[in-house]
Amino acid sequence: MSEYYNVADIFGENVFNDAVMQERLPKKVYKKLHEVMDEGKELDLETADVIAHEMKEWAIEKGATHYTHWFQPLTGVTAEKHDSFITAPMPNGKVLMSFSGKELIKGEPDASSFPSGGLRATFEARGYTAWDCTSPAFVRQDAAGATLCIPTAFCSYTGEALDQKTPLLRSMEAINDQSLRLLRLFGNTTSKKVTPSVGPEQEYFIVDREKYLQRKDLIFTGRTLFGAMPPKGQEMDDHYFGAIRERIAAYMNDVNKELWKLGVTAKTQHNEVAPAQHELAPIYAECNVAVDNNQLMMETLKKVAGRHGLQCLLHEKPFAGVNGSGKHNNWSITTDDGINLLEPGATPHENVQFLLVLTCILKAVDEHADLLRASAADVGNDHRLGANEAPPAILSVYLGEQLQDVITQLVSTGAATHSLSGEKLETGVKTLPDFMKDATDRNRTSPFAFTGNKFEFRMVGSQDSVAQPNIVLNTIVAEAFSDACDILEKADDFELAVHDLIKKYATEHQRIIFNGNGYSDEWVEEAAKRGLPNIKSMVDAIPAYVAPQNVAAFEKFNVFTKTELESRVEIEYETYAKTINIEAKTMIDVAGKQIIPSVIGYTTELATSLTAVQTACAEADTSAQKELLVQTSALLAETKAALAKLEEVTEAGGAMEEGREQAAYYRDTVKAAMDALRAPVDKLEMIVDKDMWPMPSYGDLIFEV
Ligand code: ADP
Ligand code: MG
Repeated sequence: MSEYYNVADIFGENVFNDAVMQERLPKKVYKKLHEVMDEGKELDLETADVIAHEMKEWAIEKGATHYTHWFQPLTGVTAEKHDSFITAPMPNGKVLMSFSGKELIKGEPDASSFPSGGLRATFEARGYTAWDCTSPAFVRQDAAGATLCIPTAFCSYTGEALDQKTPLLRSMEAINDQSLRLLRLFGNTTSKKVTPSVGPEQEYFIVDREKYLQRKDLIFTGRTLFGAMPPKGQEMDDHYFGAIRERIAAYMNDVNKELWKLGVTAKTQHNEVAPAQHELAPIYAECNVAVDNNQLMMETLKKVAGRHGLQCLLHEKPFAGVNGSGKHNNWSITTDDGINLLEPGATPHENVQFLLVLTCILKAVDEHADLLRASAADVGNDHRLGANEAPPAILSVYLGEQLQDVITQLVSTGAATHSLSGEKLETGVKTLPDFMKDATDRNRTSPFAFTGNKFEFRMVGSQDSVAQPNIVLNTIVAEAFSDACDILEKADDFELAVHDLIKKYATEHQRIIFNGNGYSDEWVEEAAKRGLPNIKSMVDAIPAYVAPQNVAAFEKFNVFTKTELESRVEIEYETYAKTINIEAKTMIDVAGKQIIPSVIGYTTELATSLTAVQTACAEADTSAQKELLVQTSALLAETKAALAKLEEVTEAGGAMEEGREQAAYYRDTVKAAMDALRAPVDKLEMIVDKDMWPMPSYGDLIFEV
C-alpha cells in the first residue's frame, strides 16, 4: 500500500530555498545575497561565511554528513566530490562540524580527468568550481546517507569554461541585456530583468532490472545492440496515454516524491508511444534552474528504479524498431514582472512587440540552423533525428495557422490587418461543454514549433543535458534582438522603422517556416530547394560550433571564446568515437562469448536429434531438421565472419588519432560492421530455441515489465 501525504508539506523540504534563507539568515545577509543573485553584485567572504554556516546547520538537521560541489563537466553527467563537515580532532579527541564561506564559494577538484579538449594541460590540472547562487543548494538523502549539494560552475585555472553551466549563465546575461534593450524601445521602463523560462519534457524507458542485468549491451552501452522485433511492436498505438500499470505507477509515485522534496516540480506523467516508454514533465522554471532540475530528474529516475527492481533507460534509442526517447525543450522569455515576450495575445497582428520578437527568432533560427542542430547532436540521438519518429534533422519553424496568416499578410502587403481567431469546438453532444478551440492546431513533426506562448525545440536527445540547446537559443536570439535594436535605436520614426524591420525579417527568413509534415520525403526535397541544411549525423553537425557566423555570435556576447569552442569540438569528436568504440567492443564480447557458443550448442542439439531420428527410423522425413541445420550453420558462419571484420575495424579505429577523421571512421566503417554483425544474429534469435538464447528478448524486455 502507498503511504499518503500532502505534497505541499514535503515540496522543497530538502532545498535551501528562499523561504529557508529568509528564515535563517540575518536580514542584512539575506539582503546582500539577493543583491548578488538579482543584480550580479560581488559576494564578500564575510557574507559567504554566514551563509555557509547556516547552510551547514540546516543540512546537518537533514542528516547531512558531507557536502559536495555539484557540477556538470562535459561528460554529460553531473560530477561531485564529497567532503565531510568534520574538523581535525580537538585536544579532547572530539571533532566539530564546520563549513566556511570559502568552502562554499570555491572548490578545487583535481580536474585532470575531466574532458577539456586540450584547454587545460594535465600538468596544470587545476580546475575550480564556483558557487552558482542562482540555483539553490539541496540535501540529497538516500541509502548512501545525506549530502549537501551545492550547484557550481566549473572552469579552468585561466577561467575557461569546462562545463555546461558557465556558458549557460553567460548566455542568460546576453539575452537579459538584449531583451531589456528591446523592451525599452517599446516604452517598457518597469521590467528589470528578463530570463529564459524552460520546461524540458523527459522521455524514458523502464525495464525489469533482473532482465536488464542479463543484457551486457544494456549494461555497457545503455541500448540493445542485438535483438529481433517481437510479434507486436507499437503499431496498435495502445500504449500512448494508456492506463499506467501498478508497478510503474508505484515507481512514478516514488520518483515524484523524491523530486518534490528536492523542489523539482514533477507535474505531468504518462505512457509514451513505445511499449515501456514514459514521460515526465516539470513545470517550467528559470533556464538555469530548469537545466539543473533536469539533471536531478534524470538522476532520480535512475536511482529510484533500482528500489523497485526496475531499470530506467535514458538512452535515445534503447530498442530498434520502436520509438526512441527525446526531450522537448519548451522555451520562452519572461520579465521579472511577469510579461512573456512570446505571448501573442488575442490579436497578434496588432502586437508589434510580439511580431518583432517572433521575426527576430525566425531570423536567429534561420541564420544559425546548423548550430541549433549541433546543440542537439548526441551519439544516441543519431538514431532518431531524421528517422521517422523524431523531428527530422532539418531545422524548420512551425508557426501554425494563425501566425502563418499574419506573416503571409506582412510579407505580401506589408501590413497585417487581422488575425484568425479560434472557433467554437462543437462536439454535437449537448451534455459536453462547448469551448473555444485554440487558433492553432499542434504539429508533432516540427523540430521547432510555436505552441501558444513558447517555442518547443524537439530535437534534443533524452539523455543529453538541456544546457547546450538553451545556450544556443539564448545566444542566437540575443544576437537577433541586438541587431534589431542597433537599427531601431537609431531610427527617427520608430513606428515606421519597426514596421519595416518586421516585414524585412519576415520576408528574408520565411524559408525557415514549414507547417507541413516534417517526416515526409517531400519536405526533404523542398528543404533542399530552400537551401536549408539537412545534417544527418553528429559527426557532420559538430563543425557548426566553429563556423564563422556562430563563433561571431558566441564571442559577441562572451558566451564562448573561439578557444573554448574548439575544445568542445574536440571533445565531441572524441566522445563520438569512444562511444561507438564501446558499442563495438560490447558487440564483439557478446557475440563471441554468448551468442556464438549458444548457437553452436543449438546446432549440436539439432545434429544429435537428426542422427537420433535417422537411426531410429530410416524412413522418417528429417528434411525440416536438415534445413534448419543448414540455415543455422550458414548464419553462424556469417556471424563469425562479421565478427572477425568488426574486430578488425574496431582495432584500426582505436589506433587512429583522435579527431574528426577518427569519428567519421567510426560512423562509416565501424557502424557498418556492427550492422553487418547484428543482421545474422537477429535472424538466429528467431530460429534458436528460446531457452538456449543467452539473453532476454525484446518481447521480454518491453512487454513484461
Ligand atoms: P505537451 O506534451 O503537450 O507539449 P506537457 O504538458 O507535457 O505538454 O509539457 C509542456 C512543458 O512546457 C511543461 O514543462 C510546461 O511547464 C512547459 N511550459 C509551459 N509554458 C511554458 C512557457 N511559457 N515557457 C517555457 N515552458 C513552458
Ligand atoms: Mg508532453
